[in-house]
Amino acid sequence: MNRCLLCNSLFKVQLNYSNLFFSLKNDKIVLCQSCFSKFKKITGKTCQNCNKRLSENFKLDICQDCQRWQQLYPDNLLKNKALYRYNDAFHDLMVNYKRYGDFLLHEVLSYLVKKLPKADFYVPVPSSPSHLEKRKFDTISEIYKDLVPLTFALTKDNSQQAQGEKNKQQRLATKQTFKSVKKYKLSGRILLLDDIYTTGRTLYHARDALQQAYPKIEIMSFTIAR
Ligand SMILES: [Zn+2]
Ligand SMILES: [Zn+2]
Repeated sequence: MNRCLLCNSLFKVQLNYSNLFFSLKNDKIVLCQSCFSKFKKITGKTCQNCNKRLSENFKLDICQDCQRWQQLYPDNLLKNKALYRYNDAFHDLMVNYKRYGDFLLHEVLSYLVKKLPKADFYVPVPSSPSHLEKRKFDTISEIYKDLVPLTFALTKDNSQQAQGEKNKQQRLATKQTFKSVKKYKLSGRILLLDDIYTTGRTLYHARDALQQAYPKIEIMSFTIAR
């Protein structure tokens, strides 16, 4: 029997092809069927650039956020892959993980991801020193550390306000707080890892900092939700 990390109920693992490999490798299925079913994969028409779900009658291939980024970064859009819709279940999970610092939930997030797109280096978006101090763990690297080898090629300065507490305009106006660590020999394809793609501001800043230090690399990003 396994215990569900979200609702605490005991459940029996039904092995099937989709979880067989995962359960052998990681030895743990951390969500019951009912909790797992609350997380909805992104399906249907999506933004070709950032994976945002679009309504079927949306006329363009890229979403409004990406159109705005295209004006700021002509021919240098950041391609993002996301897996889940940012629905109530995902919101609640992130509030408990980040705001209330429920460390164990990194296993739930990791379980939801299971597998990442192929890349030569995986660079997690770092926490600021003040957040690290408050939570005592790094929220992003904890999610991904058991899935892929991580390269800590970015650091973050303290900003006055957390992204989660800002409205959209404030988020977009956020200043660059990332710096690259130059000691790594990054090359090839880099996958930036974050939890949620909201406006894209954080990921574009992270990309810019990396690109400045390593101009030859190809950078894409991955988020669990969009
Ligand atoms: Zn459950
Ligand atoms: Zn988009």
